[in-house]
Amino acid sequence: MARFVFITGGVVSSLGKGIAAASLGALLQARGYKVRLRKLDPYLNVDPGTMSPYQHGEVYVTDDGAETDLDLGHYERFTGVAATRADAFTTGRIYSEVIAKERRGDYLGGTVQVIPHITDAIKEAIQAETEGYDFVLVEIGGTVGDIESLPFLEAIRQMGNELGPQRSLFLHLTLVPYIASAGELKTKPTQHSVKELLSLGIQPQILLCRADRPLPENERRKIALFCNVRPESVIPALDADSIYSVPLQYHAEGLDREVLRHFNLSFYGEPDMRRWERIVHAIRNPEGEVTIAVVGKYTNLLDAYKSLHEALIHGGIAHRVRVKLDWVDSQIFEGGDAAAVQRLEGVHGILVPGGFGERGTQGKIEAVRFARERRIPFFGICFGMQMAVIEAARNQAGIPEASSTEFGPCAEPVVGLLTEWQRGNMVEKRREGGDLGGTMRLGAYPAVLAEGSLVREVYGGVAEIRERHRHRYEVNIAYRERLEAAGLVFSGLSPDGVLPEIVERPDHPWFIGVQYHPELRSKPFDPHPLFAGFIGAAVKQARLV
Ligand code: GLN
Repeated sequence: MARFVFITGGVVSSLGKGIAAASLGALLQARGYKVRLRKLDPYLNVDPGTMSPYQHGEVYVTDDGAETDLDLGHYERFTGVAATRADAFTTGRIYSEVIAKERRGDYLGGTVQVIPHITDAIKEAIQAETEGYDFVLVEIGGTVGDIESLPFLEAIRQMGNELGPQRSLFLHLTLVPYIASAGELKTKPTQHSVKELLSLGIQPQILLCRADRPLPENERRKIALFCNVRPESVIPALDADSIYSVPLQYHAEGLDREVLRHFNLSFYGEPDMRRWERIVHAIRNPEGEVTIAVVGKYTNLLDAYKSLHEALIHGGIAHRVRVKLDWVDSQIFEGGDAAAVQRLEGVHGILVPGGFGERGTQGKIEAVRFARERRIPFFGICFGMQMAVIEAARNQAGIPEASSTEFGPCAEPVVGLLTEWQRGNMVEKRREGGDLGGTMRLGAYPAVLAEGSLVREVYGGVAEIRERHRHRYEVNIAYRERLEAAGLVFSGLSPDGVLPEIVERPDHPWFIGVQYHPELRSKPFDPHPLFAGFIGAAVKQARLV
């Protein structure tokens, strides 16, 4: 039966709870255990699908098509375990399920309350599909003390009681700030945060203390004494040069040992950390550097492109180069300003990522054109692929009115809306003007790769792939002949041949556009072939310039 580790955060937000949870997952895995990670988010949105990436960061999509929090991306990158719909839920989803039941009359006239109905639904969701796992790590979003997270904390308190310490552990991540005027690290915020948890009936057994410098033994003892934990269970979590060094760091501080000790499991012997040592070694000892321009709209917010950023780093690990990212706002190419284009001179690769809405598109199209004309490696992802298609249609195929219906009705819908969908034998209907939540093509779908294509070579010769999607519009297959005659080849299609999944240019050193999001499946220990291929092409380009 699975053991549950509940991970809460205190003092301030943005302490990196997701990385902490993912790193513990990696450590337990390196000890030979089977792990699964979950995230509970205390907001009322049913899922993050309709939330702005400006506010909430990237929407991470699972194979089974759930739109989830970006922390699930960290979980997958650190453990390689593919997350599912069951691994993320929000207060909104819990409430909507309970309210739907209430409407159906399932509560037989009883009063429906936060305790026990909401907390029962939370407990059920936490324990669903956990059979066969040794550990389930459950991260509670938000900061202890928020009104929002109370039902979640109450539910895990109850679970702790029901399962007992043999099957549950509370781990609390806090901040130990350095106060320059005193020249000291301060433990009081940690003490208060643990007090707050205690007032809710939760005694954490392990504290992970974020600090920007080593925690003196004295402070460690003080935290242990005041927070009622063993001194060895006060684990310093110092700032790291790379997120991928965190598992090694936590291991050195004894985190896995303390977790196993708590569960009365043997903690002798060492976990197999070779995978992490190799990754960190490659990151710290690059043999060169390439510059990639990422031309997008949300470029001022790194979290909006979290997986993309990581996947590019993974591509660098594959070639032992440092990948320097130049985040360029596409709108700078729209004023006809020649100086703006110079921003792209000398970069070794140009990437146009996913995006929504018309603003900034003209600039993205200009960036595609620049990459095509200057023979700079180009990678278009989702919206970026759609822009590459529009660029070819307008500038090469003689279709000046080519556009996407995403920007309004147009004469030449080279990219358009499909109102009907085939998934297995289930037909999903989409209506124009319907709900925005849950109306996209989401999750893993297969694509067939054309023989002799660059993309097939990039994927190591396989004929069929499965990749994750998140988009509403599709490249219109009706334009295939005209676009191919102009040099843009459709080298990957849905198995029924209706949906263009991949385009490429045989007359260009490396030019690929994909309708899906390959960045969601890239791992530091298993870089996605498209990112490895793109960075490989950038390395060649760097030798040329
Ligand atoms: N806006 C485009 C669509 O909905 C692309 C989406 C994306 O890049 N994820 O089809």
